[in-house]
Amino acid sequence: MKPAGFEYHDPTTLSEATALLGRLGEDARVLAGGQSLVPLMNFRLARPAHLVDLNRVAELDFLSVEGGQLRIGAMIRQRTLERSEDAAAGWPLLREAAGFIGHVQIRNRGTVGGSLAHAFPSAELPVAMVTLEAALVLQGEGGERTVGAEDFFLGTMTTTLEPGELLREVRVPAPAARRGASFQEVSRRYGDFALAGAAALVTLDRDGTVAGARLTLTGSAPIRARDAETAVMGEKPSEALFREAARRAVAGIEQDSDMHASADYRRRACEALARRALAEAAQRAAAAMEDSP
Ligand SMILES: Cc1cc2nc3c(=O)[nH]c(=O)nc-3n(C[C@H](O)[C@H](O)[C@H](O)COP(=O)(O)OP(=O)(O)OC[C@H]3O[C@@H](n4cnc5c(N)ncnc54)[C@H](O)[C@@H]3O)c2cc1C
Repeated sequence: MKPAGFEYHDPTTLSEATALLGRLGEDARVLAGGQSLVPLMNFRLARPAHLVDLNRVAELDFLSVEGGQLRIGAMIRQRTLERSEDAAAGWPLLREAAGFIGHVQIRNRGTVGGSLAHAFPSAELPVAMVTLEAALVLQGEGGERTVGAEDFFLGTMTTTLEPGELLREVRVPAPAARRGASFQEVSRRYGDFALAGAAALVTLDRDGTVAGARLTLTGSAPIRARDAETAVMGEKPSEALFREAARRAVAGIEQDSDMHASADYRRRACEALARRALAEAAQRAAAAMEDSP
């Protein structure tokens, strides 16, 4: 298994990288952690004429909290995100989601930007970023644009990235008080890609009713479950409430069938996972409220 021939480029600055991508256009692919692209090239499912390696571009390698929001450079390794104390303090959903990605060896190399740009249907980070209302900053030779995570993912391995653009950073808004989150998934074995997954974020009012909720399911692109979110607003958390919300979350959604699972299995698994994610997120929000009312 060897890739088709390609020309390798090794920029050391962001402007060098975007100039290369601008010049090479559709003939070029960015190389980040290589955990998805290299197997695709080895199977000759991808045959880029040029590879622009981002591994020496230090400007893409940062993780910081600024003005309350979390900023993640595209080349931050998934394992770095998983182990970040800053991320865990305000955005524990990211740690939980990252922990489900493959095995630790894959997370040591795989990057946050690579996972989002690759947009694989069962990937965890796209679902988490949609739930957290993250903004993605895309950079081309001529400038930058910012796209909400929900608008970035268009379908299976398809995003709004244009030829000549790269994903530069992810900005995750500041956390609210009295908030809890949960990521749930099922896979056949530890480290396998998820068959189905759900992420929930619940914010409680001081009286314990739901003041805000976000729920996202895995699908060909992350599926925002708006009906379920509306159904829980202003209500007291209960098993019956989350059961009904989960039922609404999967009503009418489309899932794919493949050799691993049928669409019907995926829909039913998403329903169960949505219920568990909402319940756990609400429990965690209640615990946060006890810690700092
Ligand atoms: C055995 C195995 C199990 C795995 N299990 C999981 C799993 O359970 N969940 C999961 O989510 N993933 C899983 N992965 C995939 C892994 O998370 C990859 O790290 C991820 O999909 C791609 O990240 P990367 O940094 O390796 O990107 P690469 O493989 O280098 O690139 C992937 C694609 O994204 C593009 N790209 C990368 N970075 C950028 C950027 N900054 N701007 C624009 N385009 C960019 C590349 O051009 C390429 O098209 C698994 C991989 C393996 C090998």
